[in-house]
Amino acid sequence: MTYDYDLFVIGGGSGGVRAARVAAGDAGAKVALAEEDRYGGTCVIRGCVPKKLMVFASGYSETVPAAAAYGWDAQIGGFDWPKFRGKLHGELDRLEGVYRKLLANSGVTTYDARATVKDAHTVTLSTGQDITAKTILLATGGRPVVPDVPGADHAITSNDVFHLDALPRKMLIVGGGYIACEFAGVMNGLGVDTHLWYRGAQVLRGFDEEARSLIVEGMAARGVNVVTGLNVAAIAKDGGGLIVTGTDGEDQAFDTVMFATGRRPNTDGMGLDAAGVDLGPKGQVAVSELSQSSVPSIYAIGDVTDRVNLTPVAIREGMAFVETVFKDTPTPVDHDLIPTAVFTQPEFGTVGLSEEDAARQEPIEVYATSFRPMNVSFIDGAHKVLMKLIVSQKTRVVLGCHIVGDGAGEMIQLAGIAVKMGATKEDFDRVCAVHPTAAEELVTMKTPVRTT
Ligand code: FAD
Ligand code: NDP
Repeated sequence: MTYDYDLFVIGGGSGGVRAARVAAGDAGAKVALAEEDRYGGTCVIRGCVPKKLMVFASGYSETVPAAAAYGWDAQIGGFDWPKFRGKLHGELDRLEGVYRKLLANSGVTTYDARATVKDAHTVTLSTGQDITAKTILLATGGRPVVPDVPGADHAITSNDVFHLDALPRKMLIVGGGYIACEFAGVMNGLGVDTHLWYRGAQVLRGFDEEARSLIVEGMAARGVNVVTGLNVAAIAKDGGGLIVTGTDGEDQAFDTVMFATGRRPNTDGMGLDAAGVDLGPKGQVAVSELSQSSVPSIYAIGDVTDRVNLTPVAIREGMAFVETVFKDTPTPVDHDLIPTAVFTQPEFGTVGLSEEDAARQEPIEVYATSFRPMNVSFIDGAHKVLMKLIVSQKTRVVLGCHIVGDGAGEMIQLAGIAVKMGATKEDFDRVCAVHPTAAEELVTMKTPVRTT
């Protein structure tokens, strides 16, 4: 049987673009890719990149007063959102162009169209065209989900936040995950009166509790109004604004409400059921460790498989797929000990087990210190950092490393190497401190604060 292509990739985001490029460029396969929206996908167009640029923009409201406290003749004025937004979208246009060029230069044929699966070897484009391929790769990512409450359609999601006509004066962000906590910091830093409602007892569920507490303390100290145990019951329009009824029965007025209440894999209406592709309970494509679906010629990578929903993971899954299918080297992706950063203010970097998860697993020692770093204490600021290591009593291996404070994302990338290599506490201790830094605490903590 001959096919139009060796590989047809559906979705031009982080995972799909990498897999297509490497399959065509390195492995010499005949590859096509369909993208229904913009090349670069969630990360580049409505995720990591514009979010991080907004984190940078919002940070100046903290650094300029700090500069003044150091002696600079500096004071912050108003934030020009339209000016920033124009520059932001110019940058995203540039990056989308880079992604298109990378695909073209690798010899990938692109279709600016929606694609659905017709059968094990055929996709149908929204233009009506059927295309056959020996292998189909689903890399369609995910989308925000909004709770089913009256008036939910008056709210926005993270997809919309980069396109606001004007910054709201008062904003409610609903949820307690990565996106809610990151945007609470961003909006607050940009001068928006920011309220975050989380239905549970503490935001960032699943992460180390001590770190979560310090993050919330830092968010609140910077001005975010964090309310736990509260959810949205209904939203109603009120002139130009919104009235939000909470699950406590109270009404409050906001200009904008943003739901950051999780994401769902993009598998609806894709023809997957009919093609025999098994889906999991959240609608994710069920895959083997080699990213193969229940239909042998159909693979899936990235957020559509709902394994670890991060850009570098989607990229790794894409590369591993190419190794497996086009280079004859079956390559599972190692999803263990993935470092991650939450770009909250204060920033959080983490790898490995939380204290709570580690203690459930085995006897541990906890090394932790929380203090005002030099640059903050000099100007009598309040913000603290946390440096924390979780150590196995039996093997001495560092099971988890948790950092809260400026540069935590950068630090955890490096600490992650040691943790992934299986470094022991004594390996950390053998490394000479870099002085004066906050991170030197990671190699100088001598006595456990707790053993459990
Ligand atoms: P995507 O990047 O979502 O790409 C999927 C593509 O498929 C999209 O372009 C979509 O238009 C297209 N598509 C869907 N269906 C079809 C179809 N039927 N036909 C054709 N095309 C289709 N991760 C990090 O590691 N660090 C961060 O700081 C970070 N910040 C984030 C901030 C936000 C606000 C969000 C929402 C996510 C963030 N993420 C971050 C997560 C990261 O963006 C995702 O994990 C990553 O983009 C997943 O890549 P993917 O290739 O699986 O899917
Ligand atoms: P998360 O799954 O991280 O968080 C969803 C939040 O919404 C949770 O706090 C959840 O509460 C809450 N929630 C869910 N349903 C409801 C509801 N019906 N009513 C009220 N609250 C609700 O999803 P996000 O959307 O924040 O982010 C999606 C993923 O994208 C992340 O998990 C991460 O993988 C990735 N991402 C990564 C970033 C990074 O690397 N820095 C940044 C942004 C996103 P509960 O805890 O009670 O379940």
